[in-house]
Amino acid sequence: MECYICTECGTQHAESGRHPDSCKICTEERQFVNPQGQKWTTHGSLKRWSRNTVHSQGAGVIGIGVDPKIGIGQRALLVRGAEGNVLWDCVPLLDDGIAEFIHALGGLRAIAVSHPHFHTSMVDWAHSFGCSVYIHSANRPWVMRPDASIRFWDGETMEFMRGMTLIHCGGHFPGSAVLHHNRDGGEIFTGDTLYVNPDHHSVTMMFPFPNHIPVSAAKVRQIAGAVEPFEFRRLYGQWWDAVISDGGKEVVRHSAERYAAAIEGKYD
Ligand SMILES: [Zn+2]
Ligand SMILES: [Zn+2]
Repeated sequence: MECYICTECGTQHAESGRHPDSCKICTEERQFVNPQGQKWTTHGSLKRWSRNTVHSQGAGVIGIGVDPKIGIGQRALLVRGAEGNVLWDCVPLLDDGIAEFIHALGGLRAIAVSHPHFHTSMVDWAHSFGCSVYIHSANRPWVMRPDASIRFWDGETMEFMRGMTLIHCGGHFPGSAVLHHNRDGGEIFTGDTLYVNPDHHSVTMMFPFPNHIPVSAAKVRQIAGAVEPFEFRRLYGQWWDAVISDGGKEVVRHSAERYAAAIEGKYD
């Protein structure tokens, strides 16, 4: 029995005797199936042929990736909180070197995941560090490896550790969430919910990446309104170096106003 991992999106599935016939994450319109066909691997195979990478992404924020790339090239962020380390989002591989590195930093107090494109091997990570994974209950249908370590939360906000609050935004997925860390003027971690544009001075919101379909003006206001009550300067987005290092709150306000105006035809 194995927990097979889809090589296209990096999602680990529940234990089975043979690989699943298809991947639910890839076959819906927010992703795509590899044109050469669905392929599968296992965590054991990844440990033999791949390794984790580490790069700083900001003060107290350590990025963790996988080389060579697997899935959509996810990177996780280790956020160093006052009460311990939180892993924001996840990656398909946990190799022995990164496990030892994180244990040397005090281990993980919790894992929190923005949306299903970053679920990856979160259950293996939770087991290794003896911690819980926080996922908004509206994303329960996309949890492909159910496990007792997963704690589904409801409602609009939840402070799961002092200074660490999950905010329900919706948009990309019904349970899409961002993490607010109350430190040094505040910082938010947004996954694909507030997607940092190449200019690093604006963000966008889409129903599907990479098959772009815009969300409605009402949804734009809902997402921006969800983070509005929180103070933050820094914004960590979806990929490596998708970071807005100051003025993040103004960026979200301005981007949401511009987006809503565009979709309502004011630029036509
Ligand atoms: Zn997949
Ligand atoms: Zn996504």
